[in-house]
Amino acid sequence: MVTGDRSSGYFNEKRETMPQEERRNYLNGKLREIVQYAYNHSRAVREKLEGAKIKPQEIKTIDDLQRLPIITKFDLVEMQKADLPFGGFEGVPLNKMRRIYILPGLIYEPGEWEYGDTRWAEALYACGFRPGDIAQNTFNYQMWPFAFMLDDSLKMLGCTTVPTGVGNAQMQVKIMHQLKVTGYVGTPSFLMNIAERAGTMGFDLRKDFSLRVGFVGAEMLPESLRERLEGDFEMTIRQCYGTVDVGCLGYECIEKQGMHVPDNVIVELVDPDTSKRVPNGSPGEIVATNFNRTFPMIRYGTGDLSLISEEPCPCGRTSIRLMKILGRTDQVTKVRGTFIHPWQTDELMAKYPEVDKYQVVVTRRGYVDEMTFLVELADESVDRAPLKRRLEKDIQEALNVKGEVEFVRRGVIFDKHKKIEDKRRWE
Ligand SMILES: [Zn+2]
Repeated sequence: MVTGDRSSGYFNEKRETMPQEERRNYLNGKLREIVQYAYNHSRAVREKLEGAKIKPQEIKTIDDLQRLPIITKFDLVEMQKADLPFGGFEGVPLNKMRRIYILPGLIYEPGEWEYGDTRWAEALYACGFRPGDIAQNTFNYQMWPFAFMLDDSLKMLGCTTVPTGVGNAQMQVKIMHQLKVTGYVGTPSFLMNIAERAGTMGFDLRKDFSLRVGFVGAEMLPESLRERLEGDFEMTIRQCYGTVDVGCLGYECIEKQGMHVPDNVIVELVDPDTSKRVPNGSPGEIVATNFNRTFPMIRYGTGDLSLISEEPCPCGRTSIRLMKILGRTDQVTKVRGTFIHPWQTDELMAKYPEVDKYQVVVTRRGYVDEMTFLVELADESVDRAPLKRRLEKDIQEALNVKGEVEFVRRGVIFDKHKKIEDKRRWE
């Protein structure tokens, strides 16, 4: 039985409603701790500080953070390549890691022995999950950390999790129906997929299902899709924002006026060119500092652009809010919930001497992303069908997302083209 009102209350009332000034002091204390810890235990962080000629004791407040360089995904990848498996970013020895997660591009991420991060739990609570909920977690349990983080967080709330993982919509429909699942966790497009499949199987979404809350993320949530799903299932859907490297950075509450930055993380918006903070109300890159000792991230640049609001929210939470994700500082694109980086597609295509030029085009059919590789051949006489098959197999394996290859005649792809062209619209 589910206990508690879904539309009010807090996971941790004291911390979520504390005055801004008090929160700043708290975060400053946590910051001093993690910087000193990471300096002592993570070689990559120590080198970053030494490179900037900064002693850990000099970082006393959030303002001092601005003196430190930003760590990017590219840094992570390059440092790992040079020094497997973690590039020195780990803050504990290997035998103190519960799992080693694997991100696309064979990037390794250390997992905490005891998952103590409460940020996703706070987000799930704000979404409406309560003790007694049966949650169907459709995020991928294979290699990636995200499904496990949510799994542990649901446990913190007292929910029962059904770890279905991704895919197999027909089976997911039956499980959701037979177990009287009350909470959905996954991408919004996959819930749409489940709804459509349930329709073709003859189910009535309201009568035959017990879904009340949906926690969605990893891809954009168009308002039209939210309204449709909320209406069809008679449920509430809230979205979250974060990355697998730094964890939860934002979540919607019942008011859905932007995304609250959770407890226990520092989020700054910075000018990507100068690494300094932008004035309040201006767009900037989301840069995060977490307090994870296993995998400490001090000033990690997400590459996502947003705006911050410090206005009070009617829900009573006093945290700052990310108002909207405005786009990317680089060409990294998310397709079906997975990041596609230009360096990944370059690496993949470099293995094919037959390919002269290529461009990735991302579009959307209904609520599903589609990725097409336009390819110009170096030699037009090459046998196209087997090459297409090899390329498509490689794309799926290297990027974890299905992509279609389309050969185009020479001259179609301009020299100054964007490597990844995102043609999706989000109304
Ligand atoms: Zn709120």
